[in-house]
Amino acid sequence: MTEADPEQPEPQPDESSAPKFVQVALNLPLRREFTYVLPAGMSALPGNRVRVNFHGRKLGGVVTAVSDTTDLPIKKVKPIEDVLDSDLSLPPSLLELAKRMAASYGCSIGEALDATLPSIAKRRGQRLIAHVMLQAPHDLAVQAVEELEEKHQAQSRVLRTVIEFGGPMTISDVRRRTKTSDSPWKTLCRGGILKRVMIAEELEELRPAIEERAERHVLNEHQEKAVEAVTKYVEADEHRTFLLHGVTGSGKTEVYLRILEKVHSLKKSAIVLVPEISLTPQTVGRFASRFPDVAVLHSGLTDSERARQWQRLLQGKATIAVGARSALFAPVRNLGLIVLDEEHETSFKQDSTPRYHARQMAIERAQIENAVVVLGSATPTLESIGKARRGIFELLTLPERAGAGRLPRIIVQDLRTESKEAQRAGVVLSRTLLVMMEERLKARDQVLLFLNRRGYSPVLLCPSCGESVQCEQCSVSMTWHSRRSRLVCHWCCSEKRRPEMCTTCENERMLELGVGTERLEKVVKEQFPEAVVARMDADTMAERGAHERVLGSFRKKHIDVLIGTQMIAKGLDFPDVTLVGVVSADTGLFVPDYRAAERTFQLLHQVAGRAGRGEKAGTVIIQTYCPDNYAVEAAAKNDYDSFVAQELVFRKLTGYPPFARLLRVLAEGRNESDAQKILREACKPLNAMKGVEVLGPAPAVILKVKDNWRWHMLVKCFDPAAFENAMSAIGTVEDLGTRTCRVTLDVDPSSLM
Ligand code: ADP
Ligand code: ZN
Repeated sequence: MTEADPEQPEPQPDESSAPKFVQVALNLPLRREFTYVLPAGMSALPGNRVRVNFHGRKLGGVVTAVSDTTDLPIKKVKPIEDVLDSDLSLPPSLLELAKRMAASYGCSIGEALDATLPSIAKRRGQRLIAHVMLQAPHDLAVQAVEELEEKHQAQSRVLRTVIEFGGPMTISDVRRRTKTSDSPWKTLCRGGILKRVMIAEELEELRPAIEERAERHVLNEHQEKAVEAVTKYVEADEHRTFLLHGVTGSGKTEVYLRILEKVHSLKKSAIVLVPEISLTPQTVGRFASRFPDVAVLHSGLTDSERARQWQRLLQGKATIAVGARSALFAPVRNLGLIVLDEEHETSFKQDSTPRYHARQMAIERAQIENAVVVLGSATPTLESIGKARRGIFELLTLPERAGAGRLPRIIVQDLRTESKEAQRAGVVLSRTLLVMMEERLKARDQVLLFLNRRGYSPVLLCPSCGESVQCEQCSVSMTWHSRRSRLVCHWCCSEKRRPEMCTTCENERMLELGVGTERLEKVVKEQFPEAVVARMDADTMAERGAHERVLGSFRKKHIDVLIGTQMIAKGLDFPDVTLVGVVSADTGLFVPDYRAAERTFQLLHQVAGRAGRGEKAGTVIIQTYCPDNYAVEAAAKNDYDSFVAQELVFRKLTGYPPFARLLRVLAEGRNESDAQKILREACKPLNAMKGVEVLGPAPAVILKVKDNWRWHMLVKCFDPAAFENAMSAIGTVEDLGTRTCRVTLDVDPSSLM
């Protein structure tokens, strides 16, 4: 029992004997709450987690309201079974935030609360977690991967994943990475190849992997101004949203740190959101080394570790929470500031229900708690810069690099000018890039090569009839992975062997079309046999601890050339990187998405920002077949403003954000006509609505995934009233789903595929 709170009156005997009714939100796609009664002697407040019986199932839920009466017949109201973690109840502000999330993203309050209250409270204390590990000897297991492949694909995939991971792997990880059910690992256990083991969660504290010295610099004039503008609002407890637009290396992080010092001295707390913890160890390290009371929240935390961090924050022992998207819900006390670093990153949008955007919810939380928001980026999204220009956000700018670094020289290499032979074989490294690499490697500098496509080649094509190898369950080409010697579908993870000949025309030679990181690695090793080359992509990072290991070696200069996908585009700050090569600027330009140009610009600008961060000058080479494209041109000139000006014209003309808000409805089912029918029904009330335009229903870009047909429609809402109307007309569209057809509503979708 905790001590009685002196401000709370003693409970009166007559009150405690009268039944209390509670409204409970359940994590189900049902947009209503359910009434239960508190049995005598049990008490609960809004924000408490409870266990209830729901149609025979025991479910966890959260109390949203307590009352003395109910309109329901008393006999029908079932009792609460248990109140869980009464000391960990959700603060009222987070309850309010969950309600707002439900309203803005069209999900149930229970679903929103489930995101708000991560698994922490679900199970507490040290506990044992189910893992699988190898039972059979390693070489036998490797052999089994091959043998199982023909008839038992899923088992083969599970086994290979466990072998690659190189140690006991949690079952939830296995399922997530292989996109399989429980049955494959269970069968492997029965066959004696894997075994299931229970391992206690580790309780050790997380230390950011890379040691960072966080030097405290004298701020330059622009930084000074930014810090001043923000702290003024923090001191006044007044809500405001700032957009900090600073070129790469302009000292944005230093600005956050200074504002945090102020927050600290005011005895307030803060939340810092970063795109992905594992990819930003340096940034996290800088926060942790400057402030002793940082709680780092990341997806790799075990439940008990997360519970411990959550407790520290609740009790005020930690006052700064640093983490990815979900750290937004950290239960800090007396919130003064939320920083969202790299606000343009798509990982701030959750791609499962509730499909919230952390930027939007950060602003809402700050509104509720009178706190200040700082959104930082070198390439703010058009939505955010649009709001800054309309005065909704306050714009702060850091126009130049801080300290020793200078912005790199950028060369656009037009691949159309390469020789005809080189073009026929497919240009991987242009002559310019080759010469520059040679020069830099001789000087013992480091090189980053960026290519946003993993595998050896994205297409395996028959040069005689033009057919390419497609996934049998999805309408996409399979990617050739040469190291593993398999074709892999990047949508459903299924694999197959390379066909001996074209299955359509029986031509014997198949052509590997296009370049992925694996092929790039091979080419670089052939060209520079002396250099130490490492590759960072989802395939090489499957092993535990791989990120920290590779970044650590790169920092110690044990690696000369680091090749990578977008994993290397973010936050890395290595002073000896003097050359960055963008192998193809064009990979994202032709994606059927209105943000293709914006994403290309962002990526090029961010990657280029990795060069010349120390005392040495940096060079960036951008290889492209489209040197005249405005995104490429603007990135080459480091000219954000001119990109935005041109992009805004295009957006205005086509009616896309920031000139409209989008809702996407996706229907997926075994039966193509079901999916179509549901959407036709759903779009009826929208077609006549003012300020609303419906595109489709139409087949989705990827028409089939895992044998499910996919149709979608896009609803453009041109003003806030239109958005409200459209939401209330289709807010429950997911209820139209049937047993065979799933419907999802995505507000401000980040993917249109
Ligand atoms: P950003 O977050 O904008 O990419 P950082 O905060 O990482 O920029 O700063 C880039 C580099 O400049 C870092 O090495 C940092 O230590 C240094 N730096 C930041 N502010 C200053 C300053 N006022 N004077 C000197 N160096 C600075
Ligand atoms: Zn597939």
